[in-house]
Amino acid sequence: MAEIKAGSVGIMGGTFDPIHYGHLVAAEAAREAFSLDSIIFVPAGIPPHKDEKEVTPARHRYLMTLLAIMSNPYFQISRVDLDRGRVTYTVDTLTDLRKELPPDANMYFITGADAILEILSWKEPERVLSMAEFIAVTRPGYGLDRLSKALGPLYEEFQDRIHILEVPPVGISSTDIRRRLAEGRSIRYLVPETVLTYINNQGLYGVKGER
Ligand code: ATP
Ligand code: MG
Repeated sequence: MAEIKAGSVGIMGGTFDPIHYGHLVAAEAAREAFSLDSIIFVPAGIPPHKDEKEVTPARHRYLMTLLAIMSNPYFQISRVDLDRGRVTYTVDTLTDLRKELPPDANMYFITGADAILEILSWKEPERVLSMAEFIAVTRPGYGLDRLSKALGPLYEEFQDRIHILEVPPVGISSTDIRRRLAEGRSIRYLVPETVLTYINNQGLYGVKGER
């Protein structure tokens, strides 16, 4: 990761299997709305809630993420979760990034509505919420009106650190992309062309031939 001198940093965690325009639109919207100096994309190593065998090898997810963000000078990528070699929890991601960033940098963890609504199931949610501010971006199909209920006892204390951000609705998910590929359908315009080319060339997701 290039050295970051900036004051406010957005952190976009995800499995990115594969990365798609929903991730990129959310990250760019957060950067602009909160005047963030950069966004660090952090591909998950071994995600706790996903079966390891069903996740594409880390090197492919890392390279697809890199290809997707390359054209945006504000976007960076970090290997902290990939290099950990054990299951990835956000509390570890934030602890490791904190060590790499300038001490006075403000960290904003960016999540989609679906992810923030599950925060109580994360490891040490209270600590996670005190380590970074949160930008919860809207996502089609997931209502953030349930947020206070989802946060339960933590809502009162942490509501000021969770910022809801309306972003252009993008009804794309990696699950849907994987399904389309398995069915031999097109994913053109759902992912950047560079990512599509990589998927084709590497024959990921069972792709045979040009898609
Ligand atoms: P999967 O279907 O495999 O879970 P996904 O599309 O949800 O994939 P993730 O890598 O799980 O992608 O998501 C990383 C982060 O990006 C999460 O916080 C998620 O909520 C957010 N996100 C993903 N897609 C969108 C979208 N279309 N709009 C807004 N946020 C999104
Ligand atoms: Mg997801």
